[in-house]
Amino acid sequence: MNGATVEEPELLRDHRRLAPGETFRFSCHPGLECFGACCADVNIVLTPLDVLGLARRLGVNTTVFLARYTATLESPELGLPVVTLRMGDDERRSCPFVGPGGCGVYEDRPWACRMYPVGMALPPARAGETPEPRYFLFEDAWCEGCGQGRAWTVDGWREDQGIPVREEIERGFRALVSHPWFIGGRRLDPKRAAMFFTACYDLDRFRAFIFESSFRDRFVLDHVLEERLAHDDLELLRFAFRWLRFAVFGERTLTVRPHRPGGGRKP
Ligand code: SF4
Ligand code: SF4
Repeated sequence: MNGATVEEPELLRDHRRLAPGETFRFSCHPGLECFGACCADVNIVLTPLDVLGLARRLGVNTTVFLARYTATLESPELGLPVVTLRMGDDERRSCPFVGPGGCGVYEDRPWACRMYPVGMALPPARAGETPEPRYFLFEDAWCEGCGQGRAWTVDGWREDQGIPVREEIERGFRALVSHPWFIGGRRLDPKRAAMFFTACYDLDRFRAFIFESSFRDRFVLDHVLEERLAHDDLELLRFAFRWLRFAVFGERTLTVRPHRPGGGRKP
């Protein structure tokens, strides 16, 4: 299952475009000869929410999850870290989560696995424009579900797979990767890329950064927000996207505390 987010135009050229309202047929279910066969030797890009959900499901912190199950590449144009799911060392290069009954992490399966057989491409950032995703269809010969069963629109399929609610949580992430800062060929330097990686993907480390460094001495956070950041993963993820707009792109999304002689916070 390889419905990854890509930039135009490569995949759009080679696949059938899906316009709004256009339909495709697809049905995946146990009993098919190919069942589970697609969960090997695939390139699955993980979103921040994918990493968080899988780490929580497996009962490990995000640092351990990233070290154990992922590989990180760098996008050539923007210098952004791209986290992918590491396939196994077996001959087939199986996904670490596939078993005889199919996906062993089904409720928390990544965005790309949910989207398949639909792929999505985001056009490069342009000043003053919100990039509109374009959808296309993977029609892999080995996938017996393609062309079978009921007809779906892209919207219907995305709804069925629980995508919109997840994308709403990650709205701030999409705004980061298509930020106008990148227009004109700018790319992240290693320091910014490391901040981006920690805040977006290694959320437990980011939480420690907020609560175990001088972060709260430097920025104004109200008590309600502090409490939420300590205990609510999704609130922390949204805050991470906000922090990156400040730290990486220089937007005034956080309020800096005025310097006080002697340092420290008011009791
Ligand atoms: S129908 Fe397609 S998506 Fe479903 S198990 Fe078979 S190859 Fe995978
Ligand atoms: S996460 Fe689940 S659906 Fe995705 S490749 Fe692995 S086993 Fe298949």
